Amino acid sequence: MSAQQVTEHVYLIQSEDVNVYLIVQPESLTLVDTGFPGAMADIDEAVRSLGRSPGDIGDVLVTHCHLDHAGALAEITRATGASAWMHGCDAEMVRAGESFRPYEVAPGPENQAFVDEVISQAPTTFEPAVVDHEVAAGEVIPVAGGIQAIWTPGHTLGHLVFFWPGDGGVLFLGDVAKNVHGLVPSPIYEDLSRGLESLRELGNYHFETACFAHGAPIIGGAAEVLKKRWQ
Ligand SMILES: [Zn+2]
Ligand SMILES: [Zn+2]
Repeated sequence: MSAQQVTEHVYLIQSEDVNVYLIVQPESLTLVDTGFPGAMADIDEAVRSLGRSPGDIGDVLVTHCHLDHAGALAEITRATGASAWMHGCDAEMVRAGESFRPYEVAPGPENQAFVDEVISQAPTTFEPAVVDHEVAAGEVIPVAGGIQAIWTPGHTLGHLVFFWPGDGGVLFLGDVAKNVHGLVPSPIYEDLSRGLESLRELGNYHFETACFAHGAPIIGGAAEVLKKRWQ
């Protein structure tokens, strides 16, 4: 699995059908999300393809507790010694190895079909992991020169979007939206109306690039695209 360059310092690593992202700096590597259980093999390969070593990953920022975002956290921190950062509400889930709280399906037959065929068939537990740092809403995490955690409840209660001001501004959106066949909300929400409200607020940030966990990044003018889509 190779790493695909998104901006000067940001790389996308695709693992199964989820994207994890790597901020590559001379002094350290920062990973955003973990992929499914077993994803460390893909991350290892991708990191080595960049001429770096997995031990260079100093920090893992996790957007939320779902299996495809936090399921490989235990194996990644074991392999790399990295510290993990999450919102406290979802950290609780990850420490217990629990993926899902009760959720509602977003409107549209395609979402119901995706839930029936994929999400409801997925394991609901994974290897519990240590979360070293609980991140508060708006906190600037002191990694990669400073990454702001934007609390975006809705998809899950403890969902965070991460804003990195480098490379013209890069927003890591986790599952507040997806961009697989067009830019649309995620198929499931713990609280749909709150999730849509979180999505609308993101247009207030200044970022050129939007990195989705599912689907292609938007490179160039991404804040405008989101604003037009949801405001
Ligand atoms: Zn999710
Ligand atoms: Zn996801």
